[in-house]
Amino acid sequence: MAHRILLRATALCVVIGLGLTTPAVADSGSAGLLAGSGTHASAPTPGADGGGDVLFPQAGNGGYDVRHYHLDLSWQPDTGKLTGSEVILATATQSLSSFNLDLRAFTVNKIRVNGSNAAIARNGQELKVTPAVPLRDRWPFVVQIEYSGVPETAIDPDGAIEGWIPTNDDGTQPTTPKADGVFLAGEPQGAPTWFAVNDSPKDKATYDISMTVPDGLTAIGNGSLVSQRSSGGKTTFSWVERYPMASYLATMTIGKFNVTQGRTPNGLPTYIAVDPSLQGGPNDPAPVLAKIPAMVDYLSNRFGRYPFENIGAIVDNASFVGYSLETQTKPVYDRPPRESTVVHELAHQWFGNSVTLGKWQDIWLNEGFASWSEWIWEEDQGGLTAQQQFDKLYADPAGPWGVSVVDFTDPADLFGAQGYDRGAMTLQALRGKIGVEKFDKLLRTWYNAHRNSNATTDQFVALSEKISGQQLDEFFDVWLHNPAKPLSW
Ligand SMILES: [Zn+2]
Repeated sequence: MAHRILLRATALCVVIGLGLTTPAVADSGSAGLLAGSGTHASAPTPGADGGGDVLFPQAGNGGYDVRHYHLDLSWQPDTGKLTGSEVILATATQSLSSFNLDLRAFTVNKIRVNGSNAAIARNGQELKVTPAVPLRDRWPFVVQIEYSGVPETAIDPDGAIEGWIPTNDDGTQPTTPKADGVFLAGEPQGAPTWFAVNDSPKDKATYDISMTVPDGLTAIGNGSLVSQRSSGGKTTFSWVERYPMASYLATMTIGKFNVTQGRTPNGLPTYIAVDPSLQGGPNDPAPVLAKIPAMVDYLSNRFGRYPFENIGAIVDNASFVGYSLETQTKPVYDRPPRESTVVHELAHQWFGNSVTLGKWQDIWLNEGFASWSEWIWEEDQGGLTAQQQFDKLYADPAGPWGVSVVDFTDPADLFGAQGYDRGAMTLQALRGKIGVEKFDKLLRTWYNAHRNSNATTDQFVALSEKISGQQLDEFFDVWLHNPAKPLSW
């Protein structure tokens, strides 16, 4: 929980309508409701304040399921201030006296549940909402939130920055709230830096997000641009993601961008945005980005039809960020990407974005698959074969040994080599074990069975055994569970 060190030590408390309260008072209010209801199974109780993830226990919340987020945002570069009006459509999965959302920083100016003012209490990124009337199990409910303030960039357990990351046009990181743009990448815990969210990868939802920025800036989100309108020196970009999306994959990256729209040979719309300061020089990303249509076709042929309604890229000049992210439909790159990085982020659209992990220890289901996809793309392009990549890593004493792929418990290891390199090696070893034909069928079936949903390592193991007809306990034990370098399998 290294995130906690960033949070304010003082619990904030903002209440609209029901008078000033504190977490303790809100709790006693719930207890009062319970007292009147006896111990009946449907008595409203508080939803859990965490999603229970081993690595990030406080991320996400219990007791409800979000179906849709509507965000109407406005950003001021001069002050760095973000103003948000949000509507959450959710369904209760228990009778709720209160529920939590995840939100960092900001002042919450107003919050309503089903049209009535609700009480809130804040503690770090936990925003506890107590509706005027308890919520019934299995009933839909609507939350309206108005908030404002200068967003806080999150710092991950491994030291990386994430979430709302202000940028300068010259590629440096701003030292004051004033900024030229924003790089927005939320894995694993960045979403609460810009909206109130049930920040669990298990709670996928659809999104429509509008962002108003001064004329001259472009705000780029997931999915499709449904409107762009200017008035009074400001432009509002409205984006819709119609497919279920995990909150960590949401983006609204802002800056000066040159945008090229087109279609792949198969007719898939493309939206490629490049920071103009990167264009025209020796590192101009255009030649690599021009391969996106061929890459998408190649991956579609291997894994199954591309999962979403369009594809693109956002290439920013912000190398201080240190990574790129497979934000849904439009990966964000902090610099001109290498070809292998682009194919990696594209492969995530299948593995990670459409088929999404349910717990963060299953990160190899994202990174192992995307890294292995780099290998097969390179093989297809006449470079090293996937087996040669495997052999190279296997021979390396400093290779991805010593950390269990799925049983690691330090959140700082989330983006470690065990998920990327050893994850990819696991797939390549499995390919050798069950044969190329069955392996290809396995990947296609995996995607088809879990698209637009969540999946687990156990499900992957079960499917591998089913398709191969082999008992693979020992194989997955040495590759995924045992930290030591596998010696035989
Ligand atoms: Zn990745």
